[in-house]
Formats: sequence, structure tokens, C-alpha cells
Amino acid sequence: MEYIRLRGTGVSPGIAVGKVLLSEGVVFTSRKETLSADQVPRELDRLNQALGRTRQQLVKLKDKVGAQLGEEHSFIFEAHLMILEDKSLVLGLKKKIEQELFKTEWAISQVHEKYMHIFDSIEDEYFRERKSDITDVLSKLYRNLEPEVSQQPDDDDERILVAHELLPSEAALRLSRGNVLAVALDVGGTTSHTAILARSLNIPAVMGLRDITQRVRDDDVLIVDGTDGEILINPPQVIQREFISKQKKYDDYRLSLQKTATLKARTLDGVRFSPLANIELPEEVQQALSLGAEGIGLFRSEFIYFQSLELPDEEDHFKIYSRIAQEAAPLPVHIRTIDIGGEKNLPQMRIEKEPNPALGLRAIRFSLRDRKIFRIQIRAILRASVSGNVRILIPMITELEEVDEVKRLVQEEKQKLREQDILFDDNIPFGVMIEVPAAAALSDKIVQEVDYLSIGTNDLIQYYLAVDRSNELVSYLFKPLHPSVLRLLKFIIECADKEGKEVTVCGEMAADPLSALFLLGLGLKNYSMNPIFIPRIKRALRSVEYQTVKKIVQKAMALKTAQEVEEYFIESILVHHPTALLMGEYPANEFINS
Ligand code: PEP
Ligand code: MG
Repeated sequence: MEYIRLRGTGVSPGIAVGKVLLSEGVVFTSRKETLSADQVPRELDRLNQALGRTRQQLVKLKDKVGAQLGEEHSFIFEAHLMILEDKSLVLGLKKKIEQELFKTEWAISQVHEKYMHIFDSIEDEYFRERKSDITDVLSKLYRNLEPEVSQQPDDDDERILVAHELLPSEAALRLSRGNVLAVALDVGGTTSHTAILARSLNIPAVMGLRDITQRVRDDDVLIVDGTDGEILINPPQVIQREFISKQKKYDDYRLSLQKTATLKARTLDGVRFSPLANIELPEEVQQALSLGAEGIGLFRSEFIYFQSLELPDEEDHFKIYSRIAQEAAPLPVHIRTIDIGGEKNLPQMRIEKEPNPALGLRAIRFSLRDRKIFRIQIRAILRASVSGNVRILIPMITELEEVDEVKRLVQEEKQKLREQDILFDDNIPFGVMIEVPAAAALSDKIVQEVDYLSIGTNDLIQYYLAVDRSNELVSYLFKPLHPSVLRLLKFIIECADKEGKEVTVCGEMAADPLSALFLLGLGLKNYSMNPIFIPRIKRALRSVEYQTVKKIVQKAMALKTAQEVEEYFIESILVHHPTALLMGEYPANEFINS
């Protein structure tokens, strides 16, 4: 048996050693089969029956997974039911059968291809990944045209699941049985539902392996290193032993990190700070709380637009916000109104192509143009505010006029709710994101008009340093510790402090231990980040004295370059707190290898 090592993307950290279970996916037919006109009613009947069966299956799956894994995971099936009931999808299928005389299998195959095409043209990774939800629903429908054809038998042995693609519902079912040691897939990426699920169930996973399904057979021995994104097929005994010991170290590391979740978020000299979570899906709330999040610092609500091919209505928004608010209560939940436009162009929206999308009709600019959509969202947030501790957050503010206008719209929606006797929290805190340099420079004025500020350093640095945040060619210039950035951040934090208002950093900077320590020295208390980074930030901040870091930062602020700042800061911190930056890495490669 050949020993091979493959590289992919590690989407869920951890290590597993075990035997392969190869899963076969559904392949839509590539054979064009047509009908005679008199066969159409029978085909429509087949389609309707398959739709009914699929519906029943999804409802059952939703209940089963909800019971086994908790409500937060059954949400996938609600999304799938919405796709199945999507009018344009069903009408599209019927049209292909009635007008183009396609056999149902061929019709499904064609409609599937069309959707894949649309989704491929979307630049945002998360949205592209939602393709798998469509494939999932359509492949169920496809199988249900011939329900008697048997499906893969259940297997209770502990195995490593290898597949071309693991559709979300299949993932929820299989991963919930407790016998999947790890997952290795040809396709997929970090933000797929399957990856999110694997992370929250602590199942190591590597995706994007291209052709692993061609390289392994059932019962081959596999090592999955979800931390490093590596797969070892049929490794020799000595390598297996090495990885088993790595696995043990990783498990210990994880346990020690998780312990920090229950510890107080306090520096050595007793200064309180708050780790908060940035989330994209309601399913992430529980995991965030279990990792020590003291609230949801940022819910990127634009991700709702992927649960359906149609525009979400007020109820869709309301259900999601209420659910997050309830699950997090009494902790705060900051719901950011949609940040779309520019590159995040959704099929439902038909936004015109812009020459310079990052500087275009994005976020609040889009919302203030399409006010109907914006008002729906505001109403839903207001209504959800009775379910927990909800706050409104507005992205990409450039000038005070925008703040005033949004506040006016919120007041109008409040008034309408009052007239309709619909309850809401009249004191719902209202905050804005500081992401545009012009708003940053005006923080002293803006902060007087709002209840809190949230600094989106991903965009703020991009716009301040004129460095596209997603362009590899200029990423060497993207420096959170650039003295100009630090001066700006200092100013914003001081403006908020002067007014006694809360300020949070919710860009990636908050998840980097070195930057987070620097922010602490600037007086920052609230750090919002991807939940998996909370333990490491908590550990870093808990291992220092605020007063010491503050003094080091004061000196570092006088330096001229990012490199000088970084070197001086690391050296000085290590003199006083030698462990502050140790084990700050996650996934903790150095630690595992040591
Ligand atoms: C930011 O810009 O830092 C931010 C948190 O918002 P997003 O990453 O969603 O643009
Ligand atoms: Mg942003």
C-alpha cells in the first residue's frame, strides 16, 4: 500500500488516525432525456411526489438532528425546506418539464447546473459555499424520484469519512452519530456549513484535497491533521505513533484552552475586559458561549440572504435575530445591518456593477438607497429586542448626516410599531462602525450621537492605508501596528472614553494576541472575534498587568515604523510577562510540535 501525503485546507483543527469510509455522492444525470407531450402529466406527478417525499424527509431530519445535536444544528434543514419551497426553483423545474419536455431527472440536472453557474460567479467565499445547500436539496429530490433505490448502509464503526463533497444535511446526520473520527473532502472551504459543523463538534476536518476520493479505498489507514491541513494515506507505523502522540498533546492543549472559558476575563492587576464573538450564523452562538464569549459583538446579518433564493422578509429576519438574542440572553447581541453591495453582490439584489466596489454603494450606503429593505431589517431588529439584549449596529458610516438619517428612520419604525401595539425595547442601544477614516477622524463628534462605537479594523486599515484587504500583492502593507493606524485607534478609543461610551474592536486585529495586547495598552476593553480565537486572547490578556502594558504602549507610540513598534513591544512585554505571547497561536502548531 502506497504512502502518500496530501495538502488541503484545515477547516477544523485536531488530529485523528483511523480507517477510511468512502462515501459516494449523488451524480446528476448527464443524459438528455425528453418526453412526448402525453408523458408530461405523469412526469409532473413524479416531481410532485418527489417534492412531497423530500419535504417529509427534511422535516424528519430536522427533528432528529434537533433532538440529537440541539436546535442550533437543525437550522440547516429549515434553510433546506426554504430552498425546497422556493417558488422560482419549483417553477423552473416545472417549466423545463412542461415547456421543454425534459424528463424530470434531466430537468433537475439542468436546474442544478444553472444554479451552480450563478453561485460560481459570486466572489464572496461564504456565499459561494452555499452552493452545497442547493446541491443537497436537489440531490435529495433526485433520489426521491426513485425512492426504492437503496441508500448507503449505516456503519457503526469509528471511521474517517472521505467524500467528494459532504452536503450539509448529510454532514449533520453523519457527524451527529458520534462515529466519525475526522472528515477529508475533495472540495469545500472554511465557511461551508459542513466546516462550521465539524468545528462545533470538534471533529478534525481537511477540505479542498481535490482528488482524495480517487486515492483511497475503504479500510485504508488515514491520518487527518485538521490543524495543519494535511492528510497522510497509509502512513508507516512510526509516523502513526508520532501523530497519536501529537493528537494527545493537541487534546490536552484544547482542554487547557477551554478551561480559560470559565475563568474571569481580567488582567493580572484586575482590569476587566470582554471577549465577544463575531458570528455569521445563528448556529455559532452556543459554541461561542462555550468558548467564553461574553456576548455577540458582531452578527454579520448579510449572511441571512443566503438562506433563500428570494429576498428574506421581516419574519425571516425576525426569527433569526430572536433566536440569537434568546440563546445569548442576558448577554448582549450586536446586530449589524447588512453590509452588502460592492463585491458582496447577491443574485436576489441585482446591484449594478461598479468600477470601484470597495468605494461604492456598500453597507449603509446601499441600505439608505434601498430603504424598503432597510426598514424591514430595522423593524425585525426592534421586534427581536424584547427577546434579549439586542443592539443595533450600522456599518461603514462616513459622515454625521448618515447617522442622523438612520436614527430618524429607526424613530419612524419605532413609532409605527407603537401604533400597532407591537413590543420593542425603546432604549435599544444604537451604535456605528468606525471603518472609514473620515468617520474615525470625527469620532469625537460621532460618539456624542450614538450609544457605542465598534471599530472595524479590517476595513479601517484597508481604507486608511489604501491597501485592499483581500489583495495578496499588497498584503505586506496591511499593518495593524502601523504608527498611523495606532494613532487613529488611540484617538477613537479616547473619544469614546471621554464620553463614557463603550468601544469595541471587531476586526481581525482583536483576534491577534500581539495586537490585542497593544489595544489593551490603549485602554480597549471589548474585543470581538471569531469564537475559536477567544481562548487564546483571553489567555494573553489574563497573563499581563494592564498598567505595565499601558506604559510600554505609551513609549511604543513614539516610534516611527510598524517594525520598530512590533520589535519594541514584543521585547518589552516579554521582559515583564514572559508567558504573555506563549501558546498564543491557534491552531497551536509550535506547541503541538514542541
Ligand atoms: C471590519 O471591517 O473590521 C469588520 C469587522 O467588518 P467586515 O469584516 O464584516 O467587513
Ligand atoms: Mg467591515
